[in-house]
Amino acid sequence: MTQNTKVLGIDTSCDDTAMALLEAEKFGFRIISNVVSSQVKIHQQYGGVYPFLAKREHQKNLPIVFKKVLQQAKSKTFDMIGVTVGPGLEPCLWQGINFAKEIAVKHKKSLITINHIEAHILANFIERKSTAIKLPAVCLVVSGGHTTLFLMKKIGRYELIGETLDDAAGEALDKIARILGLGYPGGPAIAAEAKKYKGSTSVFLPRPMMRQKNYNFSFSGLKTAVLYKCKARDLNAEFIQAMCAEAQQAVIDVLLHKTLKAARDYKVKTVMLGGGVVANEALRKQFGEKLQAENFAFIVPSKEFCTDNGAMIAAAAYFHRKDKKNLFKNIAAQGNLAI
Ligand code: AMP
Ligand code: MG
Repeated sequence: MTQNTKVLGIDTSCDDTAMALLEAEKFGFRIISNVVSSQVKIHQQYGGVYPFLAKREHQKNLPIVFKKVLQQAKSKTFDMIGVTVGPGLEPCLWQGINFAKEIAVKHKKSLITINHIEAHILANFIERKSTAIKLPAVCLVVSGGHTTLFLMKKIGRYELIGETLDDAAGEALDKIARILGLGYPGGPAIAAEAKKYKGSTSVFLPRPMMRQKNYNFSFSGLKTAVLYKCKARDLNAEFIQAMCAEAQQAVIDVLLHKTLKAARDYKVKTVMLGGGVVANEALRKQFGEKLQAENFAFIVPSKEFCTDNGAMIAAAAYFHRKDKKNLFKNIAAQGNLAI
């Protein structure tokens, strides 16, 4: 690694205005400052992210978050900037891009365009020596918008081996939480209810596509199954807890089964996770137990680096600092950008 390079990372792909400053050290990164301004309270009343409200909030928050990052760092210097250009909500992405362009020009720094999904994978490099991660690896990214399995050969080289054919796992959890009246975001609310479950009521949900021989996923049926089971019945606390425990377990079972199959089939050394859903305690525990029992190195970022953050964008920018294609010229938001 090139020592002492300081990278500013900016992410506005969804409802968090996120910025961080990382310094590349000999074997890894030092987190200098890390700020996330969440908009959850604003979107809660709509039951999901309202893109134009999110755009307005990013516009308002970006200068405040930038100031905080520099204040926390006790320094105003950095060497390069990374910004998410996609995938994500385009009106939101544009806010981060325009802000990044402005400071790149003002401070005469290079600006590197980053794919948000790749950054969720590279979040695994923030807190550990890069030499400690043995490749090839199977990487599972599970977020509000994506559920994707990759074979990672090296940094920058990913083969898509499976993805969701309909809803993302996080999206399904968010919709299930809405059916159960638990509010937004659904994942943490479901996890909290599942934790209270004592085993007195039992419900059963399907494990969609689990036994199929591919690495794809499908989660929209899970939400429909919950909807049918909730029809014309009293949604009492015990039933909600049972439903949450079962929905969470159904998601974990399918994700774990397919990831394990991919790791065995591709004979990799390492399995890495990323994305907001892998902040889930039960998921992390069960993946850790199963994968380590089969001698795979299991790597997952701390929770704060699973959900959207600027540090993963900074790390990705550092790794791509020499790629010409990632340097900004006609930089534009790309809502459906593929890895
Ligand atoms: P991201 O798109 O990466 O920002 O992740 C957001 C998604 O992660 C949303 O669908 C959340 O419901 C989900 N999520 C966040 N925390 C948790 C958690 N502890 N358990 C399950 N899902 C979660
Ligand atoms: Mg994300």
